Amino acid sequence: MRSCEVLIVGAGPAGSSAAWRLARAGCDVLVLDQARFPRLKLCAGWITPEVVRDLEIDIDAYPHRFLTFERMHLHVKGLHLPIRCVQHSIRRVEFDAWLLERSGAPVVQHSVREIREEQGGYVIDDAFRARYLIGAGGTRCPVYRTLFRALNPRATELQTVTLEHEIEYDWRDPDCHLWFFEHGLPGYAWYVPKQDGWLNVGIGGMAERIKRSGMSIHEHWARLTHKLDRNLARGAHYEPSGYSYYLRGRVDVVRRGNAFIAGDAAGLATRDMAEGIGPGVRSGLAAAESILTGAPYRLETVTGSSLGGGWPSRLFDWAMTRGAGRAAPALA
Ligand SMILES: Cc1cc2nc3c(=O)[nH]c(=O)nc-3n(C[C@H](O)[C@H](O)[C@H](O)COP(=O)(O)OP(=O)(O)OC[C@H]3O[C@@H](n4cnc5c(N)ncnc54)[C@H](O)[C@@H]3O)c2cc1C
Repeated sequence: MRSCEVLIVGAGPAGSSAAWRLARAGCDVLVLDQARFPRLKLCAGWITPEVVRDLEIDIDAYPHRFLTFERMHLHVKGLHLPIRCVQHSIRRVEFDAWLLERSGAPVVQHSVREIREEQGGYVIDDAFRARYLIGAGGTRCPVYRTLFRALNPRATELQTVTLEHEIEYDWRDPDCHLWFFEHGLPGYAWYVPKQDGWLNVGIGGMAERIKRSGMSIHEHWARLTHKLDRNLARGAHYEPSGYSYYLRGRVDVVRRGNAFIAGDAAGLATRDMAEGIGPGVRSGLAAAESILTGAPYRLETVTGSSLGGGWPSRLFDWAMTRGAGRAAPALA
């Protein structure tokens, strides 16, 4: 049996951020992920300046594709709102592998199935033992399932469903475009260019309301790609895939004994924009900090909104969630 002080399940942004913080402090940490990195992760790959700051990324030294948007185009029910901004895009297949490697933590490819509490620690599949456990395994995180689901059941009204495809494409428009609430979609569609001829196109919205609306996400997808074919991405060919995750709702318990949950495992994506990388990074760092210093593990610094919490945030939050499962600040 392999032993360590902290075992992290999942090597996405939440897990690798925690690993980075812990390894830098000299902690005996081990990361498990079922996938071999670099691995495909469905995601538009939009990251905020806060992510860059939190992870102390030197943009000039980042070795992969990194594009900065100086303008975002919001399209809301036929209204076109170009907005000056500084936001970035990366390719997740590159970014996640780079973050993991940079963490310096040892990684084992292993699909976690069984978690047992034993003598004040945790035993995983009779193969790994640790004093602390961080569940960062995304929507289907086994740590969430085993230790937290009964305490934090997820609100089905906060489940998103998505379709997306990232393709090699010689785009002409270097700005990001977002189309909100078109054809009754409780969510939005995106065109996110990446540096050096890659493009991410996708659509996402609240699963239950899409189901009730009578128009499937595939029909929304067909309308989106038809529109793009007329203008922004002529002749592009897609084979989209789907994935589901949860927006921030009540998350009452994020620590139980020496076990923590972070990122999508805890359901922390923002309620107004469904942004999950930033909340994953912040919560991963906070869990690591709590282990290192004994400070409470709080989600207060993990934002539940991408648009700053003012009226545009509240409006988009309401349009997405209809006020479902209101967030409660969790600490442990
Ligand atoms: C289509 C789409 C577009 C999105 N676009 C954006 C965006 O542009 N910007 C943004 O901020 N957010 C976006 N999100 C949300 C964002 O991708 C997630 O919130 C983010 O990846 C969460 O990070 P995480 O580390 O918690 O989980 P993940 O990135 O999902 O990582 C979890 C890891 O756990 C591993 N794992 C799972 N189960 C096990 C197991 N049993 N054993 C071992 N390992 C396991 C997985 O292999 C995976 O590597 C998007 C999501 C989707 C689906």
